[in-house]
Amino acid sequence: MMLLELDRVQAFYGRSQALFDVTFQMAKGEVVALMGRNGMGKTTTIRTICNLLPAQGGTIRFAGQDVRRLPPYRVARLGVGLVPEGRRCFANLTVEENLLATARAGRWTLAAVHTLFPCLAERRSQLARTLSGGEQQMLAIGRALMTNPRLLILDEATEGLAPVVRQDIWAAVRALKEEGQSILIVDKTLGELLPVADRCVVLEKGQTMWQGKPAALDPQTQERFLGV
Ligand code: ATP
Repeated sequence: MMLLELDRVQAFYGRSQALFDVTFQMAKGEVVALMGRNGMGKTTTIRTICNLLPAQGGTIRFAGQDVRRLPPYRVARLGVGLVPEGRRCFANLTVEENLLATARAGRWTLAAVHTLFPCLAERRSQLARTLSGGEQQMLAIGRALMTNPRLLILDEATEGLAPVVRQDIWAAVRALKEEGQSILIVDKTLGELLPVADRCVVLEKGQTMWQGKPAALDPQTQERFLGV
């Protein structure tokens, strides 16, 4: 059984159609890079998977279950852990309170997250809003992991972060991949993204236009759909 299956997904903002035909599948343990230029529908696709924006057509199945009519908290409970664009930590809670807010029993405990991101242990009593951008991203990832998700979704994993901090985030993504964590990831730095991806799904104007292994992503495809 596939972990995630999207079939001909459509979505709208009001009357304006953002997704026309998003179709792809993810197996357990895969790292899939969701790609495409700005405004092509990556964030919208992620929002429909979590049902933060209802899909108006097509089907979305997670671990074999139709999730299109489930409220976002139920999708999360089924095992979809989202790290949204812009991180969205609870600003006025401490680092530790942020991590514990969504915790569910499993491999990811406070101690395990502290091992992955030692700075979160050092800053455990600080309010989230006092963290740097990189630390907030680590906190957002840690918080998603604390739900022990079957699928981790990272939207703009390293956007706006200093190069050194980016390397920490990529190191964490590689470590997660190595232990078999399924990850759907969006990021603009293709040089970092492609080496960790098992497969790429490329969107163009709300449609999946290309799918395949990173090695098969030829220069013409990159130029045509990614503007590289
Ligand atoms: P980016 O990298 O810029 O975030 P993206 O691939 O994630 O791009 P989306 O944010 O999913 O793209 O946007 C897809 C389309 O939906 C775009 O045409 C965008 O203008 C439109 N859109 C996104 N958010 C909204 C919104 N809240 N209201 C109306 N239209 C929106």
